[in-house]
Amino acid sequence: MIPDPPSPPCPHASASSETRSLLRLCQGFGGAAGGALVCVLLAFGSARAADPMPIFDAHLHYNAEAQEAFPLASVLALLREQKIGGILANSRPNDGTRALYAVRSPELWVVPFIRPYVVRPDRYTWFADPAIYALIEREFARGGYQGIGEFHLFGQDAASPWVQKMVDFAVKHEIYLHAHSDAEAIELLFAHNPKVKIIWAHSGFTTAPELIEQYLRRYPRLWGELSYRDEVALAGKVKPQWRRLFERYPDRFLLGSDTWVNERWEQYAPIIDSYRAWLDDLPRAVAEGIAHRNAAALFLGAKR
Ligand SMILES: [Zn+2]
Repeated sequence: MIPDPPSPPCPHASASSETRSLLRLCQGFGGAAGGALVCVLLAFGSARAADPMPIFDAHLHYNAEAQEAFPLASVLALLREQKIGGILANSRPNDGTRALYAVRSPELWVVPFIRPYVVRPDRYTWFADPAIYALIEREFARGGYQGIGEFHLFGQDAASPWVQKMVDFAVKHEIYLHAHSDAEAIELLFAHNPKVKIIWAHSGFTTAPELIEQYLRRYPRLWGELSYRDEVALAGKVKPQWRRLFERYPDRFLLGSDTWVNERWEQYAPIIDSYRAWLDDLPRAVAEGIAHRNAAALFLGAKR
């Protein structure tokens, strides 16, 4: 089992009325929201309008190479500097995720996902590899995990019986998938089991906003994550087709850094800055949803 850290005292316990209503909201989610997690959400909720908006990074890798170059203390300092209140963490191998989960705190909410890779070439073969399915089961048994991914899966590779088993596993345990996939693979994943909940890494990477909208309408359990979608905005102004999408589906998008190589860790600050620039161009409620409230709804309100 991943050990539970002691529940730290909550520094936000005597905060504003906005904060108190968020506390009630978090408590309303019930079982999954332990004291520390509720407190973490208070950190999101207690930001004043003038403060930089807290961000939940829904696509963070802490792979073996990054663990060497960026020790845990420096990662925590970076996240604190960038006002990252929470992360969806995964790593190859999964020990980096476990290290991050072990240091979760009221200042940093950590949502661990199982990376189905031991070494980098696994990304090309994992979906047909029974050893990887066994890894998922073994890792899940440690406790704490809320999803599987990010994984790479394209076209008919998603039809593999091992992928079917993984989808059923995710549904059975009410956890998410984080899929770097094309539209065909997304359709196959939902065809395996329409109850599966999928975070679509990069919202398909090159999928046009009009097509993303069709998929969001068709699959109520699909959420779009926006790393590498630099075309969302130009000079801080959200483009009309993306604005329309965000305003129509304000509760279906998440942000992510995608620190898949060390260069992305080096660029972490400008990546987050570029999000903040265009979030400022959206109505506040829409921006807060994308920045952090949608993540809270997904991972605290586990039964969606
Ligand atoms: Zn990634």
